[in-house]
Amino acid sequence: MLAICSDLDETADRRVYLEIMRFLNTTETTAMGPGVGLEVGNSIYFDMPPEQFAYWNTDDAGREMVRALIRSGHIDCLHSYGDLATTRQHAIRALDELDRNNCKLEVWIDHGTAATNFDSTIMQGHGDEIGHEAYHADLTIGYGIKYVWRARVSSITGQDIPGNLNGILNWKHPVKSGRTLFKEAAKRKLARKGNHKYAMHGPNETLCPTVLRDKSPIYEFMRCNPHWGGVTSCEQGRHIGEVLTSNMLDRLVEQGGTCVLYTHLGKIDDPNIPFNKAAVEAFRRLGEAFRGGSILVTTTRRLLGYRRAVREITFNTTCDEKGLCINLNTRVDESHLGKLPDVDLSGLTFYVPTPEETHLKINGQDFLSLKVNEPDYTGRPSVSLPWIRLQFPES
Ligand SMILES: [Zn+2]
Repeated sequence: MLAICSDLDETADRRVYLEIMRFLNTTETTAMGPGVGLEVGNSIYFDMPPEQFAYWNTDDAGREMVRALIRSGHIDCLHSYGDLATTRQHAIRALDELDRNNCKLEVWIDHGTAATNFDSTIMQGHGDEIGHEAYHADLTIGYGIKYVWRARVSSITGQDIPGNLNGILNWKHPVKSGRTLFKEAAKRKLARKGNHKYAMHGPNETLCPTVLRDKSPIYEFMRCNPHWGGVTSCEQGRHIGEVLTSNMLDRLVEQGGTCVLYTHLGKIDDPNIPFNKAAVEAFRRLGEAFRGGSILVTTTRRLLGYRRAVREITFNTTCDEKGLCINLNTRVDESHLGKLPDVDLSGLTFYVPTPEETHLKINGQDFLSLKVNEPDYTGRPSVSLPWIRLQFPES
């Protein structure tokens, strides 16, 4: 499973932003040719210097576009409140706007050295420091942020599997890739010795339940940039062709992990044609892997939601007159339709011997739209809760 998790830094304007999103999420004609029809999210911030695309900087049409993309799930990350947001008042103004427009975001990503960041070391944030003028964690977590990124990036392709350092070394670039390998190994060693800063590198997991400094409960998540040059190398739209290589995608499929890819898609050379040839080829390659069923490409929020949901479920199996019954227990989400089982379970799959004679109960209720899957590369058939794709808004 892979999410392209892009910080919007340096995106010039709403046209560039939308053209990137249309190319990635639709099959419409774009400046780069037909879109690749993936499911890729994006991020937004509010208070930025005027030359950068941001919610308050753009025009009414730009703000309407952002709201539509938040509602459809394609803008899924709040990239701090921006460089110029220095006080709680800035956070209140942004959250009011989001709430008033029924726009929900669940993912927070620290940006640069914005005062509203949560990480106090590398990102110099004060957002969760009670008493500081930039303190907003109570409001932001209260609004609905569940997942927080505080600058943790791994060089390992794929998390939620045993961390394999083998893919990092690149024989064409032995010195620099050797340094990257050494750094990743050192972070892991520090984590195992109890180092707080690199704790997430120990278990190589995407998610870790924790608290902010004001004790607000969150899931922290780790991103990945598997480029041989290191975690801050080629993390830009102009270089994504050097990151999403066929080797990298093969390694991810082979390892079977999840990857929240750290990048900045708005850092490009030509605003009229945002992605260069290598980038376009990389996304077409990813599109093939997606349609071929080897990599599930989705938004950061959906990937994190799925990982969370899988952590939280319990299940057992019984045999009854209809065959095998999977009894799944999960959290209940309140919605305008009433109480529903966790929506983030979409895609959950069980290998079973006889899919046609298998049924599923969620919290005691029969689940009627179980999907039957043909045997996969392991030779085993399975059943799934259907994966429902997001609908890109009409533009
Ligand atoms: Zn940023």
